[in-house]
Amino acid sequence: MKNAIVTGGAGFLGSHLCERLLEEGCRVTCIDNMVTGRPRNIEHLLGLDNFRLIRHDVTQPIEVAGEVDYILHFASPASPMDYLELPIQTLKVGSLGTHNTLGLAKAKGARYLLASTSEVYGDPLIHPQPESYWGNVNPVGPRGVYDEAKRFAEAMVMAYRRVHSVDTRIVRIFNTFGPRMRPRDGRVVPTFIQQALAGEPLSVFGDGSQTRSFCYVDDLVEGIWRLLQSDFPEPVNIGNPHEMTILQFAERILELTGSRSEIAFKPLPEDDPKTRQPDITRAREILGWEPKVDTPAGLERTIGYFRERLAETAGDPE
Ligand code: UDP
Repeated sequence: MKNAIVTGGAGFLGSHLCERLLEEGCRVTCIDNMVTGRPRNIEHLLGLDNFRLIRHDVTQPIEVAGEVDYILHFASPASPMDYLELPIQTLKVGSLGTHNTLGLAKAKGARYLLASTSEVYGDPLIHPQPESYWGNVNPVGPRGVYDEAKRFAEAMVMAYRRVHSVDTRIVRIFNTFGPRMRPRDGRVVPTFIQQALAGEPLSVFGDGSQTRSFCYVDDLVEGIWRLLQSDFPEPVNIGNPHEMTILQFAERILELTGSRSEIAFKPLPEDDPKTRQPDITRAREILGWEPKVDTPAGLERTIGYFRERLAETAGDPE
């Protein structure tokens, strides 16, 4: 039986990853300090013999007894609203947190997988973005705290690979959505769904002509699992190439929810990337992976989750 550690395991992606690792027969240790993670996301796993939660901030030294086979470093604020509110924590978890978890991987002889991001491409000048693109990031802008932390993290992973022969993987995650996103985390998917269900106006930033490409969480987790099982050390994009403008996305949400909410245009945040679409040639070739859930089908499931959550919390989620 493999022993896996997932940092940020009580977050949106981390909790889905913990579930998948358990299904694959792993013993899973979730490490989370609950800054943006939520105990509720893993509540259903707590009674299982093969699952445990350690409440810990991975920017502090980490000690774990026994053997460890896999370390998946997913801890970080990931919504622009969160990392604008938590800029120093974001920089620390991407830098010190990556250093500490790599040190643990080295000590345990564990395989290490870093959750990196399409944000390493910044406001991209190449479209769609292949892994060979080095990006267009503003280090001193508000998003720099996340982008540069992840860029540093990738560099650190490669240094541990080269210097200490740690067995590493890097996944560059593009916009992903699904159940367990926080309704008020500020990201476009939960925000629009929550607004549409509440009959509030949908807050489209700028003129809504900026694009994103949204991947359903199950597809992402499949890609990560395949990458973990591969022996491929270079970064791999995992995302759904189905691209749309944010205005089209708002209209799609209105259609799928049957909401009569209006659209309210709001100022575009600084350094908001104008386009984003993964080039997934590498994932196709190396991992035989491509997304299976089309975006509307994934949105239907996510809307269902939000309807239930809003009903449980009488329309006032966190
Ligand atoms: N966005 C929007 N309204 C919102 C939240 C986000 O129009 O209430 C836009 C945002 O400007 C960006 C896109 O939706 O262009 C995706 O934003 P998100 O925060 O989900 O993640 P990002 O891809 O920017 O990291």
